[in-house]
Amino acid sequence: PMKTQNGDLDESKNLPIYQHKATLQQAVKDNSFLVVTGETGSGKTTQLPQYLHQAGFWSNGKIGITQPRRVAAITVAQRVSQEMHCSLGREVGYQVRFDDCTTQDTVVKYMTDGCLLREILADPVLSQYSVVILDEAHERIVYQNKWWDKASKGRCVPLKVVVMSATLETDKLSVFLGGCPVFTIPGRTFPVTSKFSCAIGPKDTESSTAYSLLYIYILVVKVALDVHTSEMAGDILVFLTGQSEIEKACDMLYEKAESIDYRYDVQDHKVEGLLILPLYGSMPTDQQKQIFQPPPPGIRKCVVATNIAATSLTINGIKYIVDSGFVKQLNHNSRVGMDILEVVPISKSEALQRAGRAGRTSAGKCFRIYSPAFWEKCMPEYTVPEIQRTSLTAVILTLKCLGVHDVIRFPYLDRPEERFILEALKQLYQCDAIDRRGKVTRLGELMVEFPLPPGLTRALLQAASLGCEDLLLPVAAMLSVENIFIRPGHPEKQKEADKKHRQLGVQAGSCNDFTMLLSVFEKCKASDAPSAWCKDNYIHWRALKSAFSVETQLREILLRLQKRDFPMEKFDGNKSELFRRCLCTGYFTNVARRSVGKVFCTMDGHGSMVHIHPSSTLFDQEAQLDWVIFHDLLVTSRIYIRTVCPIRYDWVKDLLPKLHEVDVYELSSVARE
Ligand code: ADP
Ligand code: MG
Repeated sequence: PMKTQNGDLDESKNLPIYQHKATLQQAVKDNSFLVVTGETGSGKTTQLPQYLHQAGFWSNGKIGITQPRRVAAITVAQRVSQEMHCSLGREVGYQVRFDDCTTQDTVVKYMTDGCLLREILADPVLSQYSVVILDEAHERIVYQNKWWDKASKGRCVPLKVVVMSATLETDKLSVFLGGCPVFTIPGRTFPVTSKFSCAIGPKDTESSTAYSLLYIYILVVKVALDVHTSEMAGDILVFLTGQSEIEKACDMLYEKAESIDYRYDVQDHKVEGLLILPLYGSMPTDQQKQIFQPPPPGIRKCVVATNIAATSLTINGIKYIVDSGFVKQLNHNSRVGMDILEVVPISKSEALQRAGRAGRTSAGKCFRIYSPAFWEKCMPEYTVPEIQRTSLTAVILTLKCLGVHDVIRFPYLDRPEERFILEALKQLYQCDAIDRRGKVTRLGELMVEFPLPPGLTRALLQAASLGCEDLLLPVAAMLSVENIFIRPGHPEKQKEADKKHRQLGVQAGSCNDFTMLLSVFEKCKASDAPSAWCKDNYIHWRALKSAFSVETQLREILLRLQKRDFPMEKFDGNKSELFRRCLCTGYFTNVARRSVGKVFCTMDGHGSMVHIHPSSTLFDQEAQLDWVIFHDLLVTSRIYIRTVCPIRYDWVKDLLPKLHEVDVYELSSVARE
């Protein structure tokens, strides 16, 4: 193997895909559509775009590669820019929601599916591109070959479409794309032995939701430490559910690893320490880089990761897997009629994929913290694609704006259930994005430009039309980043943090969770020492900093739209109500009324019984409340509403009938004609 001065970049020549470079370049030249498949880690994502670049495709336009997750787009672009010896944002760049790192020079562009959709909206023939590579295509929406062919009309050079996937669904993809060729990169994998344990059995998921299984991080830590002390050298990859569990597990691992006596406790005496690294979506990218570096000699690396490490990012040197058996995923919850994050058992195919991460360079071992009975009874065969599990509003609105009116009969690769499509149509109608006959409205054409949930976009546009976007833009930004409030584990500290947070809310005049977000945003922005201010007030500075940048970008989108003919209205109510009334325009679908004690009842036809979440400024003040709106739900053994604001019935009185009047079959009639 070749080694370069500054490390191991020429490792790319050792990747399985390397031997097929010329064949792949030719295959893309010869075919408009191509499916490429191969084991995770074979080099598809990082290498193929470079091969196409070397083959000269860039001279006809950019090479665009979509990723299902933003972290993957960013990390991979970083790596590829290194391999191509250019700085990120020049020849190689990325674009994800709220973060565009590309320039005029960018010819290899990594992006999320959402970004590509937006580009298609702006320029349906994608005239700036020569090749579009849809990576991990099985996860999201893929258009049929006929659609691409139509989109290609009016281009000088036909567009090349490459679809990549590590799964066994390649035949389905090929058929979907008109029977295009499938290129399989032969894998080099080593056997992985998997071991079940009895820690988690079928009974553990019986309690109302799997969410109560958060203690799995403790089990996982125990197993990881066992592996560290009793197995031969080789790195460990632990699969956990989400950021907070990962952070807790890392803290605990760190603490326990301190007390290991390497002279007596450890089997392999070449192992003299443990390097613990978290890996999750929203962590800073400079921290993520460490994950890929080999550990110092004698040190064992232990990466504690979300599912992102299963298919999207490959870490070299992993010999041991610790599999929690769970994943945190966005699911449409029909009980409450909204998408919520849930912790659920992974599928069997997912478990095999996780185990496979240990067998890339030599034989490996996988330790499962669940029993064979759990595998049999609780784990489904395959993972349901996201498009079939989550709200379709954004997808449907985009399709409509692209001129696809028949969203029912549209050829989806993985057809969502019709009731989900109908529900999305209903929501779009409720926030005025489509009319009664299912046609996109002027407002809908504006809404599609914002990468935000429809209710929030609706409220923002209402505010803009009344000239008070300055109130809503910061709120929309704050709701688009990870949680900004720090809630320390220590009870005393937690009390202090809660007190500080409440003060911030009160200072804003009227006290609710939306004004609180606004107040935090404005106060910090006005501060001379923002990071110190955050520390003092138990606020995540990093999250707030990204909210600042998101706000700027939302403002840019709005300014651009305001240059078109933008609807303006007059407000003749009470000024102090303005903010809350704008919120009502978008959030009237999330209205609840107090029924008894601390229990509220939602007004959306589901009539769910909900509680105000303890993190809310209104927690414990329920007795004084009557009607409220809320941003989202958290389902544990109870249903909680989060980010809450009291309102007056008057403000939503005229809107509420819209929740029930609408006949979904009428909405889809355009589609059926
Ligand atoms: P595939 O898409 O087929 O799963 P990738 O192209 O993602 O494969 O990975 C190929 C190799 O590149 C892997 O060995 C992986 O470890 C390495 N790699 C990917 N991203 C980085 C990075 N940011 N830093 C270091 N190595 C990386
Ligand atoms: Mg990949």
